[in-house]
Amino acid sequence: MRKRILFVATGGTIASEMTAFGLEPGVSAEALLQAVPAIAGLCDVDSEQLYDLDSTDIGPEHWLGIARVIRENYAGYDGFVISHGTDTMAYSAAALSYLIQGSVKPIIFTGAQKPIGFDTTDSRVNLLDSFICACRGDMHGVMIVFNGRVILGTRARKTHSKSFDAFSSINYPHIADVRDGRVLQYIVPEYMPEPLFSDVLDTRVSLMKLIPGAPEAQLEWLLQRSDALVIESFGVGGLPKGMHEAVHASAREGKLIVMTTQVQNEGSDLAVYGTGRALSEDPLILEAYDMTTEAAVTKLMWLLPRAKSQVEAARLFYTPVSKDILTARM
Ligand code: ASP
Repeated sequence: MRKRILFVATGGTIASEMTAFGLEPGVSAEALLQAVPAIAGLCDVDSEQLYDLDSTDIGPEHWLGIARVIRENYAGYDGFVISHGTDTMAYSAAALSYLIQGSVKPIIFTGAQKPIGFDTTDSRVNLLDSFICACRGDMHGVMIVFNGRVILGTRARKTHSKSFDAFSSINYPHIADVRDGRVLQYIVPEYMPEPLFSDVLDTRVSLMKLIPGAPEAQLEWLLQRSDALVIESFGVGGLPKGMHEAVHASAREGKLIVMTTQVQNEGSDLAVYGTGRALSEDPLILEAYDMTTEAAVTKLMWLLPRAKSQVEAARLFYTPVSKDILTARM
């Protein structure tokens, strides 16, 4: 039986053309598909031009929009391919991993570092690889297919700004390679009998990346304006002396604070140093451990409207979704 795939286009470099203002999206979903005739030989495709945006302009309302299109069409298709700008694709893929949990059907994000109309481009191979993966029966849930690698949506990060090898899988192996149209799959993602769809996000989530000497007032400003704050500190984690009290106090007032690290690999371990131990012992302060910042931020947006207490929020934060967290204190 030929598979039916829904192609959802949102813009990005893949669909961009050179204009007087620089590269801007403008190539339609249909034109993207026509540029890769092999896709029509693989499966039946319908397309939807949902947005036409550089992903710099994509945010929570668009994540909800993408989730809505998939939910409304879920029964009618075997899989979904979403073309998207690479700059914020890791956030969108993480957000969709929380908005649609346990899907047996593949929900694949892809894009390109060079537009489809350029002589040298990664657009065609990324699109074709994505449809090849979307037609398989063992690629479950949200993932990114890019430069021959299949990465869970909760684990992806853009790690190269220019080369075709744009995405890495952080603190978790990529689940498959695609080479010359053949898939080598190492990990089969888990799924549930029916996916869990959510349609609400709390956008009052902020991220503070510490720099040496960062003023405490900056932390307090963000705490006052946020329901949850992710703090990317140094190394395995800790805070300068002057910031501890503000963080403990604001956790007591009901804000969700998540400590993480700005070091890309191996995650946080707050209990190691004196600069972090007291934070790790405060049950109201959470720690991201091996999660990516993209996953921590979007998981908070998803869980805040659902959690009725801080205890429940902590439980939801530490409950793994699509392998987003492997180590956690409960
Ligand atoms: N600025 C582009 C975007 O994120 C970059 C890309 O797609 O590669 O939409």
